[in-house]
Amino acid sequence: MAGDALIEMRRVNKYYGKLHVLQDIDLTVGRGEVVVVIGPSGSGKSTLCRTINRLEPIHSGTITLDGHPLPEEGRELARLRADVGMVFQSFNLFAHKTVLANITLAPLKVRRSGKEAAERRARELLDRVGLASQADKYPAQLSGGQQQRVAIARALAMEPKALLFDEPTSALDPEMINEVLEVMRQLAQEGMTMVVVTHEMGFARSAANRVVFMADGAIVEDRTPEEFFTHPESDRAKDFLSKIL
Ligand code: ADP
Ligand code: MG
Repeated sequence: MAGDALIEMRRVNKYYGKLHVLQDIDLTVGRGEVVVVIGPSGSGKSTLCRTINRLEPIHSGTITLDGHPLPEEGRELARLRADVGMVFQSFNLFAHKTVLANITLAPLKVRRSGKEAAERRARELLDRVGLASQADKYPAQLSGGQQQRVAIARALAMEPKALLFDEPTSALDPEMINEVLEVMRQLAQEGMTMVVVTHEMGFARSAANRVVFMADGAIVEDRTPEEFFTHPESDRAKDFLSKIL
């Protein structure tokens, strides 16, 4: 592990009705660590991400963030949730707001930053994701890859302690995937703690400290990319890799 534990899940269980969607999940993500989560469709990867910032409640177990247990509700929850940024497959930008306004919205509302400071910071972040000249455009005027980079800048604007990515490149045309992965690689190098659900095995091999393989709601393997890709232990992982590699 790269540092001390930033995200800790202990014996986390969650059900959707009778479906045991997360089964005794134990997962530790160290500060500065990049954990790639892979697994077949329906294995619980998105649900795992959503429980980490309590977009979804859990039925048992504990999740701690930087040493603080995640509360069930209330103002404390909003604050802790802001500590974990989330980037979705579908970008989820506000269509009727400019790129700049998309990025400053949450800092102005939740962090109560001043307008000038929030805009200055937003422009810095746009520069960082290679979109300095796009601040006044609307999302529909940008390509999918550019919109996803705006979504990453928007998540960074809250100065999160960790970022969760749920299949950030799955909705993109192939030629746009790399520009998004490049931004993610750069964040990883700068020490951002990241949990990344992805099917991009090149990214997993090159950027991940660990690969977590999920199947049927359980973590089946949790190892270095080197170990996982060269010597998968479980039949489920072998089967999965044979289909995608
Ligand atoms: P993955 O991201 O690995 O494809 P998900 O976490 O989206 O998997 O889903 C895991 C399982 O939980 C699937 O069987 C899915 O159909 C089910 N599921 C997901 N969200 C809900 C929900 N809101 N209500 C009921 N079942 C759900
Ligand atoms: Mg999913």
